[in-house]
Formats: sequence, structure tokens, C-alpha cells
Amino acid sequence: PKTLRLILGDQLNQQHSWFKEKNSQVTYLMMEMLQETDYVTHHIQKVAGFFAAMRAFKDWLREEGHQIVYYKIDSEQNQQDLSKNIKAYLKENEFDKLEYQLPDEYRLDQQLKDLRNELNIETEAFDTEHFLTQRNDVAEFFKGKKQYLMENFYRMMRKKHDIMMEGDEPEGGKWNYDEENRKKYKGEVPIPKAYSYKTDVSDIVSSIEKAGIKTIGSIDAENFHWPIDRQQAQQFARYFCKELLPHFGRFQDAMHTEEKFLFHSRISFALNTKLISPTEMVDYVLKYWHEDQDNISIAQVEGYIRQIIGWREFMRGIYWAKMPDYAEKNFFDHKRKLPEWYWTGDTKMKCLEKSIKQSLCDAYAHHIQRLMVTGNFALLNLTDPAVVDEWYLGIYIDAIEWVEITNTRGMSQFADGGIIGTKPYVASANYMNKMSNYCSNCHYSKTKKYGDKACPFNSLYWNFYHVHEDKLKGNQRISMMYRTWEKKGKEEQQKILKQAETYLDKVDEL
Ligand code: FAD
Repeated sequence: PKTLRLILGDQLNQQHSWFKEKNSQVTYLMMEMLQETDYVTHHIQKVAGFFAAMRAFKDWLREEGHQIVYYKIDSEQNQQDLSKNIKAYLKENEFDKLEYQLPDEYRLDQQLKDLRNELNIETEAFDTEHFLTQRNDVAEFFKGKKQYLMENFYRMMRKKHDIMMEGDEPEGGKWNYDEENRKKYKGEVPIPKAYSYKTDVSDIVSSIEKAGIKTIGSIDAENFHWPIDRQQAQQFARYFCKELLPHFGRFQDAMHTEEKFLFHSRISFALNTKLISPTEMVDYVLKYWHEDQDNISIAQVEGYIRQIIGWREFMRGIYWAKMPDYAEKNFFDHKRKLPEWYWTGDTKMKCLEKSIKQSLCDAYAHHIQRLMVTGNFALLNLTDPAVVDEWYLGIYIDAIEWVEITNTRGMSQFADGGIIGTKPYVASANYMNKMSNYCSNCHYSKTKKYGDKACPFNSLYWNFYHVHEDKLKGNQRISMMYRTWEKKGKEEQQKILKQAETYLDKVDEL
């Protein structure tokens, strides 16, 4: 049958079985669309990165001898809507069948289901052949459980895929080496230069501007540094294994004013667009480890692999288990907006200034910056999770809803009431100072809870627990916090709460 095959912008998987054979009956269709650029305000690097990677994929398909129809954002026939474009294309051209790969986003999944019902030709959905799990595996695994424990899922994945196993036992005798990780970075080892490309994406940026697409953040259009094709992604991965993996786990949670990337792999964009697969990342990491055990310890390797086959697959499974309800969850009933400076980084709090400015400049922040700096503050600010989601979904180059919303609404904002996390990730200046050098040059004082220049995290932290006592006091993992709070005595409590109130009232000025 004459077949039209749709490829979405995050389905750039050259290894997919679709491409194994050339078939003159098959035409591929790819489209840059306002539908995708405008559902939230994205970072300019994110829009440009997606378009650049899609165009590179289109060129590869063509070189491989496949037939491909590609709509640029300014193509004349582009109606900027997935369903409209497909319907119009099918009307002009005779096809017997439409095939597509299962989208990772609920929004697109619904749209394609609706489209299938409207079309009067045969349609078929295929797996993306990217993940190690199917959409519903996590739901099946935790059937009947209220809380989803990542660690249990992760162990199952290790066994099932025989990764770092010695028979039924974990290699090295432990499943998890976290306690050896998570050190503050004090310059003990130099951080290798960030690997980066210098792809010229000026054409793409000007067509984004001409199309009137609203974006945030900045871009060096002549030196776009993210990987945009499979080869670049593989080089990135190899560089990571050789140079950064030896210290990845150790400094995984560290933050530093002068070091934006530390030992992180920055592979999330390449992974989420499927330029590279999770299995390949695992293979790379294991290969480099086996070849260089003197420099790479098991703790680094296990820590990395847990992120890929554990957290990443787990979050995707939660997404499919809980959507669409998940997108409405607001356990604390928070209603506030984010401070204005989330879009400029102009705040006197050094940790937030650094994390936000870096996000605007690079469309990137590492996990702990997202979780314990911007996410932590958003939660202490009692922010509406919908607003928080919108910010995260827009600003990061790797942000696609399935992995953004589970991390943001779930892990970071505890808006799911504890499906993903066992307790909210909130912390005061104490944590910030333990894991970073942010506090040393800050306008605010890390030790003060109230009074002149008291670090806002300190009073807001206690305020959060105070405000949500009803919802949190019964949580065993938190009850100790309430005892500490009670011990402070009424007078001290009042001072702290008063300070929090003042800060919340003028949060834009912090
Ligand atoms: P590394 O630290 O080098 O880790 C390697 C890989 O492990 C990552 O590329 C990623 O694929 C995977 N990984 C690590 N942690 C997680 C996690 N918690 N969930 C899923 N995968 C993980 N990740 C996204 O890919 N897209 C998002 O939109 C996104 N939004 C987030 C929002 C919040 C509030 C938080 C706390 C985390 C979010 N994350 C998101 C997870 C994580 O922060 C990023 O995957 C990571 O920072 C990407 O940088 P890296 O490639 O250098 O990661």
C-alpha cells in the first residue's frame, strides 16, 4: 500500500526499523509547526535546536534514499497544525495508509487518535523503539500500590536487562552507591572543558523570528553548542564517558557559581529527541568503565545508569499511568505566581540568580539546580504548579511534557501528594551552603532566619511547614521537622513567620 509515515520532532531515531529498507511506496512527512512552538513560550535554543535536529534528520533520510516531504515553519503549504497539515496533504496526494510512531506526549497522542477517527484510510501506530519499557510497564509493575518506589522499579530493570548484575546479585554487592556520591565541589579535580559544537543556526533563528514565534532566553546562533544529529550525540556521549564520568556521581549534586555543567553529561536533549538511545548510553558507560576501572569507580557508573534506566523510564511510566489527571494535581492548593525575576535572573539571592541566568543563557541547569534551587523556591513561594510547569516546560532544551511534568509537578512541587516522592523537596540555606558556594558571596545571610538580610529560604522554609501542617504532619518522614518547629517556641516562631510574610509580600523585590 502507498503509505505516508509521520515523524514527529522528538522521533529522530535513525536506528528505527522503519528506515532499514527503502520503499518507493513510502513517503515520510515532517513538519515544523506553530502548534508545537506556541503551546508554551519556549527558550529560543529549544525551538532552534528542535528545528536544526529535524532538518538534519531530513537530510539524512534523503541521503539514505528515502522520500521525504518536509514543511519548514515558513513553507507555503504549512497550515501550522498537525491534523490540518496531514488532512490537506492526504487530500492532494493519494495514500492508502497513514503510519506514525506513538508520541511521548499525551496531547499529541490524543490529537492523533482524533485524527485517526476522521480519516477514511487505514492507520497504524508503531513503537518508537527508543525506551527500554513500554508505556504501561510502570503502571503494571506498581499495580495496586499507592506510592511508586523508584528503587524497586530500578532493581527490576537491572535484573531484567542484565545490567551490572552478577547472577541475581548486583555487581559490587550493592544496588545503590549514592552514599559515596553527592559531595560539594571545592575544585579538588579540574573540570574538563564543556564539549560543544559550533553549528550555525542563524537561518533557523531568523525564520523563527519572522514567523513571530515568541521565545525566551538568548542564543549564539552562529555557534549553537547542542548536538543536533546522531554523530554529534555519540561524540558528546563518548566525551562524557572519557572525561566526566570519572567524577559524575561524586559531584552530581554539587553546585558552583563558576561551573555551570560540572560533570553532567548534558545528553538529555539528544536522548529526548532520540538522536541517541538509553541503551546506547548504558553501553557506552559500561564500555568505558570496563576499559578504565582505575579511573572510573562503580559508584560513578551505577549513579549514571540509575538516572537512565531508573529515573528516566520510571518518570515516563508514571506519566502514562497518571495522565491526564496528573496535569491538574495541586495537593497544596497553591495559587501564587512566580516572581518576575524567574524571567530575568535579577534577584539578590545568588543561588537563584546563578541558576536562572544560566538557564536563560544555556537552556540548561542540572538536576539539583532545578530541584533544590528554582523548584525549592517555587514551592516555598507557594506557587501554582501550573505556572511552575509552564516555566520548566519552556526554559529547558530537554523539556518535553512526559519528563518535565513528572519531575516538576511530581518530584519538585509534590503536587501529586506523594506518588513520586515520599516528602516535599524543600530546604533552607543550610542545604544550599552544604552543596554549593552560592552563599559565600550572597547579599543575604545564610545563618539568619529573620532581620536584616536574612536569607529568604530560611523563613520561607519554616513557613511552608507551618502553612501545610494539616497535610504534612502525619507524614512519618517529616514529623521530626514539626518537633523541631515546636521546640522553637511561640516567640521565635512568630518572628520567622512574620519575616516570611514580608518576603512573600514583596517577593518580586528579593
Ligand atoms: P545528567 O545529570 O548527566 O543525567 C543523565 C541523564 O539521566 C539525563 O540526560 C536524563 O536523561 C536522565 N535523568 C536524570 N535525572 C532524571 C530525572 N529526574 N528524570 C528523568 N530523567 C533523568 N529532564 C528532562 O529530560 N526534561 C525535563 O523537562 C526535565 N525537567 C525537570 C524539571 C525539574 C523540576 C527537575 C527537578 C528535573 C527535571 N529533569 C528533566 C530531570 C533532570 O534534571 C535532567 O534530565 C538533567 O538535568 C539533564 O541534564 P544532563 O543530561 O546533564 O543530566
